Amino acid sequence: MSGKTILITGGAGFIGANFINQFFESYPHYKIVNLDKLTYAADLKNIIDPGVSQYEFVEGDINDSSLLQKLFEQHNFSGVINFAAESHVDNSIKGPEEFVKTNLNGTFNLLHRSYLQWMDGPHQVKAGYEHCRFHQISTDEVYGSLGATGLFSEKTAYAPNSPYSATKAGADFLVRSYFHTFGLNVVTTNCSNNYGPFQNREKLIPVIIEKALSNKAIPIYGDGKNIRDWLFVRDHCSAICSVFFKGSPGETYNIGGDEEKTNLDLCHTICNLLDEVKPRTDGENYAELIEFVSDRPGHDRRYAIDHSKLTSELGWQPNYTFEQGIRETVLWYVDRLSAG
Ligand code: NAD
Repeated sequence: MSGKTILITGGAGFIGANFINQFFESYPHYKIVNLDKLTYAADLKNIIDPGVSQYEFVEGDINDSSLLQKLFEQHNFSGVINFAAESHVDNSIKGPEEFVKTNLNGTFNLLHRSYLQWMDGPHQVKAGYEHCRFHQISTDEVYGSLGATGLFSEKTAYAPNSPYSATKAGADFLVRSYFHTFGLNVVTTNCSNNYGPFQNREKLIPVIIEKALSNKAIPIYGDGKNIRDWLFVRDHCSAICSVFFKGSPGETYNIGGDEEKTNLDLCHTICNLLDEVKPRTDGENYAELIEFVSDRPGHDRRYAIDHSKLTSELGWQPNYTFEQGIRETVLWYVDRLSAG
């Protein structure tokens, strides 16, 4: 019989840590085991530990089959939510191998362990394990790049362009195959760009804020006209809960914020907020620090998400406007950087 313990992988990263903190606000009767390899992107300090009866951290790799077997036997998980990934596109260009290992092989390893634990064979769920669910956290980048118009829907053909998005796409296909071939209860969510507290300093928004506050050039790729749809991380986390608890088996759900911005507009918005909350001592505006640098190879031009399936079928809505979320985010980074 499965219990109310969920395995979260990659929970010490940006979205995973936000998810764990937020999850306990709504589901205090669950226990979470957080399995994380603690790569450079992890920071355990971001998790508010609610105590040993509710939360346990395990340092380890999702590629370690014997560790997974031990954890599944020990905790009898009723669900797995797989956040663990190498997630930075620039790193996937410099060194794709780790992306294949974690994003593709690691997801396979988790899927197969879930299958062995919860099922007796293809389409034969063990008694008591009927509601056990595997949730894959994926990205809108699997769909490739859009022109000036159009939106990615769940029916859009996959066309990943970077080693990062290719490994995420491959993982999504493995998840799909475990549903169709074995009947494993899976769901997949494909989300747009997240922003908010706890993001690693290598990503665009923390880079803009950190460079600005240290009076250094703020690098913007190419002409700055690449468009992303931005979603506040807490809204991503609430959408994950909707799908994990209410989504239909085998389905995928797109998650987005209807907030398309060019990188340049995003950068100007952040600079304007910084001018307001922490003005430069020399009286100049932060936007004067913006500097265009050579474009990223294969840089996707535009992403935009149609999340109507999630909204109409599961009733999810974002709670934050971009203006609210980005202000909260900027204030958080200003505080954190001021604290040293
Ligand atoms: P992140 O890089 O901040 O965190 C990833 C976490 O995974 C880290 O704590 C790291 O230590 C852990 N990890 C890496 N390899 C591991 C392994 N082999 N075994 C166990 N743990 C491992 O990433 P994030 O931004 O929090 O993204 C989380 C998930 O959400 C990823 O799957 C990513 O593809 C997806 N996603 C991210 C965004 C975004 O805007 N950040 C948008 C859509 C989807």
